[in-house]
Amino acid sequence: MEGSAKDFKSVGLNDEMLDNLKSLGYLKMTPIQEKGLPLILSDQDFIGQANTGSGKTAAFALGILSKLDVTNCSPQALVIVPTRELAEQVANEIRMLARFRSNIKVLTMSGGLEEHLKIKSLKQGAHIIVGTPGRIIKLFETGMLVANDIKILVLDEADRLLEMGSIEEINRIASFTPLNRQTMLFSATFPNGIKKLSASIQEDPAQVTIDSQHQINTIEQLFFKVDGHKNDALLRVLRQYNPESCIIFCNSREICKKVAAYLGSKNMVVLQIHSDLEQPERTLFLLKFDNKSCRILVATDLASRGLDVKDVAAIINYDLPCNHELYVHRIGRTGRAGKKGLALSLYTENDCTILENISDYLKLECQTIELNDLEKLRQNAIRPCMSTIYITGGRKDNIRPGDILGALTREAGLKSEDVGKIHVLEVNSYVAIANDKIEHAIEHLNLGKIKGKKFRVGKA
Ligand code: AMP
Repeated sequence: MEGSAKDFKSVGLNDEMLDNLKSLGYLKMTPIQEKGLPLILSDQDFIGQANTGSGKTAAFALGILSKLDVTNCSPQALVIVPTRELAEQVANEIRMLARFRSNIKVLTMSGGLEEHLKIKSLKQGAHIIVGTPGRIIKLFETGMLVANDIKILVLDEADRLLEMGSIEEINRIASFTPLNRQTMLFSATFPNGIKKLSASIQEDPAQVTIDSQHQINTIEQLFFKVDGHKNDALLRVLRQYNPESCIIFCNSREICKKVAAYLGSKNMVVLQIHSDLEQPERTLFLLKFDNKSCRILVATDLASRGLDVKDVAAIINYDLPCNHELYVHRIGRTGRAGKKGLALSLYTENDCTILENISDYLKLECQTIELNDLEKLRQNAIRPCMSTIYITGGRKDNIRPGDILGALTREAGLKSEDVGKIHVLEVNSYVAIANDKIEHAIEHLNLGKIKGKKFRVGKA
């Protein structure tokens, strides 16, 4: 985070919120937060032109949380996102930021297998709803979602909402909500469709634009010319830079599979994200990458849409993408929220035109590195120190991350540093555990109880 950035105290958040932000490691505001939060907190309609990675979720989430009446259990904020996956990610970020107070309920409504459980949960009351357009419209139409108390409507990734649906859908959602609401719209790009959408549902919005170049400048971009085998080159680059986490981009599903198989044969733990995956598998893979029980994700562009993995230390372009926009999109996944990022690209003789386009577009002298200059003997295996376990209990059993942490540290006797990220989903939970403690943790959790109930536990 830059030295000149302000801390959250300057926008007048309460002490409990500030303590929680500190515990999350959010010490300084990102540019969208610094410029946007004062406007958002003043109840104005708001347009934020910012990319994923800018900290925009926290910007609107802190606005919502500051205005919430926790004693009122009917929905007071509605966040519309383009995909189910994003709904889960946004809801999780809001839940983290809401930890300063107990009993703030955030619910995702975006279709899928567990929807009936969520409807049951909705009937019991929820403060913040995060959902996809089609699902939210259905809930309004059937009277299951009541909008009387909604004070805030957020459209997240509005350009993608319009790409995947229509302006009429969003207008229809807005028409169910009270007129005196605050409407916030976030979008990476600002084409005419978004201007039209804003004009139809917002009143005199304040606009903040965050230059994506600003983010790109924090990413170190290196290019490697490959004359021989690309797989060898990839292995050398990986071993040299030994990133804590990385996404390797390939131009097709077939290449993805080959690259993953090759790295697997070199004793690396690799997961692949491409269109052959079913949703539950995809969710589990992303979760394992997020909780650091896998450090390498191999992905295609299409499959990585809407994928919002936090804190990727490096992006590797196994293949250069076909245009510079895609290049910017790919590398924008590293160097988020002011952190330093690393983008490593392999290229061949055939890629000279696209390389020039990238260099012209970013006004960047592409820094090329000879593979032979990399140290030959590096043997980093890029293996994670954690593995993931599943527990057959989740939010429907009222389990919270603290219950699982308690069972692991108190009953199974693990140290807190042996326990990584805990994801509590609707029916299941997943926890990252240090590799050498995994059998012990599984055995104890299977014998014991969590919140007074027995659950099955195993390696995910
Ligand atoms: P977003 O643009 O909302 O997808 O956020 C990108 C990432 O930045 C997320 O992983 C957030 O948890 C993280 N983040 C948001 N605000 C801050 C902050 N002020 N300081 C550090 N990390 C942040």
